[in-house]
Amino acid sequence: MAIDKEKIKQAVRLFLEGIGEDPDREGLRETPERVARMWEEFESMRRFDMKLFEEFGSYNEMVLIKDIRFYSFCEHHLLPFFGFVHIAYIPDRRISGLSKLVRAVRAFSLRPQVQERLTEEIADFLQEELKPKGVGVVIEAEHLCMSMRGVMSPGHLTVTSALRGVFLKDIKTREEFLKLITARARAF
Ligand code: ZN
Repeated sequence: MAIDKEKIKQAVRLFLEGIGEDPDREGLRETPERVARMWEEFESMRRFDMKLFEEFGSYNEMVLIKDIRFYSFCEHHLLPFFGFVHIAYIPDRRISGLSKLVRAVRAFSLRPQVQERLTEEIADFLQEELKPKGVGVVIEAEHLCMSMRGVMSPGHLTVTSALRGVFLKDIKTREEFLKLITARARAF
């Protein structure tokens, strides 16, 4: 996804005109430039070395990383959706540090997305890179395109999951994963 700052600037200016704003007024004058720079920053934040998963260990019980914060954009409305990603995997020698998982999540989330695909992409990526016995990914998110309008109540959460390998085949593994991610109390 290459960033074309000039195109973004023209588009934002047109958009502002389209909603009846004056793009030359004080507060909006620099907005096209700011938005273009922001997307450039997102683009650089998404860059991620796929070969970062090279740690080896002999641990082969379930590894669970809960509550990875993420921010994304609903591709239907270009409004943010955000929340938490929970990742579990059963390693087969390769393990990953938290920061690498956070960067992997960011690589897939900082772009126009739908929550279902984001969940699948993270699961497929980890299955591919870590080659574990199985992966489970659950995402809980609030979508501003739902919260800000219509009848949906603010704070309404959409939950999606993607299971691979042993998480798909073995009911006990799946149940343990779901029990672990729901066993908590936190403020959203
Ligand atoms: Zn939406």
